[in-house]
Amino acid sequence: MLKDAIVIGTGFGGITAAALLAKAGYDVLTLEAASELGGCAGKFDREGYRFSAGATVGMGFEEGGMLKRLFGELEIPIPLMRKLDEIMNVYLPDRTVTYFSEKEKWFKEVRDKFECDQDRIHAFFEEVFKVADILRKFVEKRAIFPPVTISESFALLRSLDLKLLGLAPYLTQSVQDRLSKHGLTKNKPFMTFINGQLMDSVQTTAAFSPSLLGYMALSIFHKGAFYVEGGLASIIHALAENYRASGGELRLRHKVVSIAKQGEVWTVMTKRGQVFRTRQVILNAPIHNIFSLLEPELHKSLPIKEHKESRREAWGAFTLYIGAEPSFMMPETSSIPFHQFISSYESPLAEGNQFLFSMSQEGDTKFAPKGKTSITISTHINVNKWWEKESYESRKEEYMERIIDSIDKRFSNFSSNIDVKMAGTPVTFKRYTQRAHGKVGGYIPSDKYSLFSNYSPNSRVDGLWFCGDTVFPGAGSLGSSLSGWMVADAIKGKYSRRGI
Ligand SMILES: Cc1cc2nc3c(=O)[nH]c(=O)nc-3n(C[C@H](O)[C@H](O)[C@H](O)COP(=O)(O)OP(=O)(O)OC[C@H]3O[C@@H](n4cnc5c(N)ncnc54)[C@H](O)[C@@H]3O)c2cc1C
Repeated sequence: MLKDAIVIGTGFGGITAAALLAKAGYDVLTLEAASELGGCAGKFDREGYRFSAGATVGMGFEEGGMLKRLFGELEIPIPLMRKLDEIMNVYLPDRTVTYFSEKEKWFKEVRDKFECDQDRIHAFFEEVFKVADILRKFVEKRAIFPPVTISESFALLRSLDLKLLGLAPYLTQSVQDRLSKHGLTKNKPFMTFINGQLMDSVQTTAAFSPSLLGYMALSIFHKGAFYVEGGLASIIHALAENYRASGGELRLRHKVVSIAKQGEVWTVMTKRGQVFRTRQVILNAPIHNIFSLLEPELHKSLPIKEHKESRREAWGAFTLYIGAEPSFMMPETSSIPFHQFISSYESPLAEGNQFLFSMSQEGDTKFAPKGKTSITISTHINVNKWWEKESYESRKEEYMERIIDSIDKRFSNFSSNIDVKMAGTPVTFKRYTQRAHGKVGGYIPSDKYSLFSNYSPNSRVDGLWFCGDTVFPGAGSLGSSLSGWMVADAIKGKYSRRGI
């Protein structure tokens, strides 16, 4: 039977597009290679615990927030979650900074924890909030960028306004350029703090982060960060349930191995040899997977070139999944689910020198049995060396030990409270999320102009669309979901005013 659309993958991007199209009455089939939904934002169960595979911090559910609007559009209840006042403790070598959501508390914390340049830091954040608010209004209009068709170009022009055009000077500046204008680049603790935040969101430090991208990231916690019961997988599951309720068909353990086109019809073949036919294909795998899936004759029609693509850098993740008794945590910090560790001011903010520690909260029995906690820890790593078989196991042990040692220095008795521990590497991410080379989290911006090297959700090949963290607007659950929404908009005719 000819489907209206086939969605490949159930990450944030794919499941958003699938749910919206099914709700609009399209006949949609979604194929997922894994036995779990959600990709990098999924979960897995072991030894009585649920572990978040990668993503842990919930965002976009504040009033007017992107995911809140998506759930409204789909008319589904928001999964159980708590808006955090104290979002995260950031442990720098000589101080702990608590990331408060509320702006006044945040400004007070900045004054208390950074003894130098307090007024400059305040002014910098005021600028960040102002610019990000203007930018957010633009992104929320969901114009496809870069536009591919004339109607997408018009839609982009319609979404511009005077305030946005006023941000033009920022297009040629990095976050570092702005910090320099504010006289902050010599303040080592503050720069390390900012770089740590940018690494976790933009995937690079201030020097390489386009200012607009960096400002969106630095403002996001002040819009709202959430502890989601059962983790971000609960959001994916709510979307998948809604998709099925709207008549969408979802098949797990169905890995797609080839995509080809005959006339106007696409054929999608799975590893089991099943062939499905459709008018539209929505690929939620990263862009760097496309060359192994798409029939070679169509490669030349893509705006992406394989040799160029293979040189674009992305991080891998080393993850630790730990089930433990939470008695190592001080009572005053036990209600803070997220903890960022930065061990040294001198080393790069990756490879275990910087990592995020996320722990399930008391009473969240989706995650852990009563009296226990489920912990996911992740650090950015270079993917290349993880493919050497001889050193794989010893490297894994070394990273695991290094990270647990850092935690023991902060939370005494941490290691003695561990029940279960497992590690994830680029090899694991490739196996469970199909991401080529185990590269995760979108591309690393290479310089201040990298906003212009974004890939469009529109592939330029008629009927083939991309969504997920390697296309505009980029990484994270919000960016990925938004690209899925843009693709659903396009298929429904938002840009051409004529549905497909
Ligand atoms: C360690 C880590 C921590 C993170 N922390 C956060 C965080 O706290 N907050 C946040 O917002 N974001 C976070 N992120 C980023 C966020 O998880 C991702 O950007 C986002 O989830 C990616 O979604 P996606 O739509 O690109 O799909 P992916 O997550 O890449 O999922 C793609 C899906 O498609 C399936 N698939 C791929 N190829 C095929 C095929 N050929 N056939 C069938 N199925 C296929 C995969 O199995 C997978 O399920 C984190 C990422 C990592 C790795």
